[in-house]
Amino acid sequence: MEKMKSVPELFGSLVFNDRVMRERLPKDVYKAVHKTIENGSHLELDVANSVAAAMKEWAVENGATHFTHWFQPMTGLTAEKHDGFISPEPDGSVIMDFSGKELVKGEPDASSFPSGGLRATFEARGYTAWDPSSPAFIKDRSLYIPTAFCSYGGEALDKKTPLLRSMSALNHEAVKVLHLLGMTDVTHVTTTVGSEQEYFLVSKDLYKKRKDLLFTGRTLIGANAPKGQEMEDHYFGVLKPKVSAYMHDLDEELWKLGIPVKTKHNEVAPGQHELAPVFETANIAVDHNQLTMEVMKKVADRHNYACLLHEKPFEGINGSGKHNNWSLSTNTGINLLKPGKHPAQNLPFLTFLIAVITAVDEYADLLRVSVASPGNDHRLGANEAPPAIISMFVGDELAKVLESIEQGSDFEDHGKVMYSGAEVLPHISVDTTDRNRTSPFAFTGNKFEFRMPGSALSVANPNIVLNTAVADALLDIYEELKETPPEELNGKLMEVLRSRLKAHKKVLFNGNGYTEEWVEEAARRGLDNLKSLPDAMPRWISDKSVSLFTRHGILTREEIFSRYDILLENYVKAIHIESLTMQDMVRKDFTEGLLAYMKDLTQEAAQKKALLPELACFLETERIRQLDEAAGAMMKALCRLEADTAAAEQEEDLLARAKCYESTVLADMDALRSIVDGAELLIPDDYLPYPTYSRLLFSLR
Ligand code: ADP
Ligand code: MG
Repeated sequence: MEKMKSVPELFGSLVFNDRVMRERLPKDVYKAVHKTIENGSHLELDVANSVAAAMKEWAVENGATHFTHWFQPMTGLTAEKHDGFISPEPDGSVIMDFSGKELVKGEPDASSFPSGGLRATFEARGYTAWDPSSPAFIKDRSLYIPTAFCSYGGEALDKKTPLLRSMSALNHEAVKVLHLLGMTDVTHVTTTVGSEQEYFLVSKDLYKKRKDLLFTGRTLIGANAPKGQEMEDHYFGVLKPKVSAYMHDLDEELWKLGIPVKTKHNEVAPGQHELAPVFETANIAVDHNQLTMEVMKKVADRHNYACLLHEKPFEGINGSGKHNNWSLSTNTGINLLKPGKHPAQNLPFLTFLIAVITAVDEYADLLRVSVASPGNDHRLGANEAPPAIISMFVGDELAKVLESIEQGSDFEDHGKVMYSGAEVLPHISVDTTDRNRTSPFAFTGNKFEFRMPGSALSVANPNIVLNTAVADALLDIYEELKETPPEELNGKLMEVLRSRLKAHKKVLFNGNGYTEEWVEEAARRGLDNLKSLPDAMPRWISDKSVSLFTRHGILTREEIFSRYDILLENYVKAIHIESLTMQDMVRKDFTEGLLAYMKDLTQEAAQKKALLPELACFLETERIRQLDEAAGAMMKALCRLEADTAAAEQEEDLLARAKCYESTVLADMDALRSIVDGAELLIPDDYLPYPTYSRLLFSLR
């Protein structure tokens, strides 16, 4: 038997990581690659050739036969096209070959990827460009090379390109501010991200019997089981043996790929679980989260499960999210969001904290757009996830610090940063316990946790918006301070921070975000409550948004508008598919069960009457009457859904079409569902050709 590998042996064993590069690359090549990673500088062809040769050798030794440029088109998924290493020789044999050119650039046929009109059809080609900052890895015997995906005109057609641009913009602005504050040894600031991932497991056999899960990822009909999550007995509960085996297998697969998954536990809803990695550089964290979602599904299949990543697979119980933990760290090893022992005197911390507050308030609408999806709309504001209103939680201690800055009279007089109360403020530990689970954007000790992203979403978009907005806030602070003589800097900085706080404190909210009072209070404060994707999207193409993204070189106007089209199109298509799937399930599957049951009831009653004509057959007659009534209502609702879906499709303008889907089609689906779910409660499970909630949610072993 093969000896079990230890975790350190396993970890990264399929990754062309720094250790492998150091071992296998000539010193000067290794240095050149590092320079490229750190400065984004150009890689010479001979260096690329040398890296390619080493990569190929390593990949072939580890069983790879193919290589693929791996990229993240606007579908939200990943894409790959595999080429063999083999290259025929004149004597009829083959060698395994891989050139620097093949490593650096690929040309997939891009015509079928969404481009939102960026790529005219006559120029269907796009190209992929190696991202050396995210390590290559082996999966299914292919060498995967993380790449960015662009059109021939150079427009970004993916999520990685703007993410890298946003990280670099933030780095640029952060370093400028830190130098101003005297931290001149800092040459680089990295965005760090750790994304906690929630998911459901259901039995594969049951999953396959539900068209709604297969086609849309969520159940479109189905009455609640008698038990839901009210007992809260699943949260952090003992792992069931088979689920535990799945998680273990998953951990190992992810470790091999160098993904540092660390925690796992049961979540609130039955069948719901969570996994979290140790944080990494944003770019790698995003790649790793995409990879994690894919591996979760693959390993689930092996264990006879289906892994559901949809934000709201089941009505009536919690949906799934993805918490985006975000911070900034310097090349000198400082976490800029770590308050330290004396947060009130920690100027870099206060500056960055207030820059984040400014950014989140100023661009709350863009953050909302960054997490908008048809699935996530079911979650946000449904009293289980943060509301669609963006607010920030900083905890009591920090709130006090901020208050003292805002009132500010103390420190101005002293001429240096020292003010009453600061000394007695408690040390804010990383494990701060006053967590506010209802806040969409919470300070959690040494990082911010953005809790609105949906479980199925790529975390690229939220981080693009966050990085850019914070870069912008830092740029503003820098501009106001840059001419200040050193001896006046502290005083002036405090003045600047105070003005930011005054303008943006309306976004701070430490109370319960799930209440109706907060919705009203937020409206009074002038905070947006953009409930749905169609509500939020116009903000994405506003002048303010275009100005932000173009100012920092993150997205061009064309790229912004193309993304607008893609998101709306995706929304419309997703609901269209849901509508058709629901119609099909109700018309065929549910009706089949309903009719079979009514037929049996009728026959039973007839048989009884044949035996004893005086029997009234109350049970059967009453049940038939109830079902018949439901059937009538159901047919009406079904017709309406059909008609409204057809009408929505006729809407020319994309935004108007999306709004139509939201206000009519989704509403019709809700109405139809409540009739069907009511009737389902009257029909024994065996009659339905698909599994009910009880079986889906409570049969995991
Ligand atoms: P929770 O109570 O929310 O589970 P944890 O402390 O376990 O909090 O952390 C959750 C996530 O936050 C993990 O993925 C962790 O790696 C990540 N995280 C911790 N520190 C940072 C940081 N400095 N930057 C980004 N993410 C971080
Ligand atoms: Mg968390």
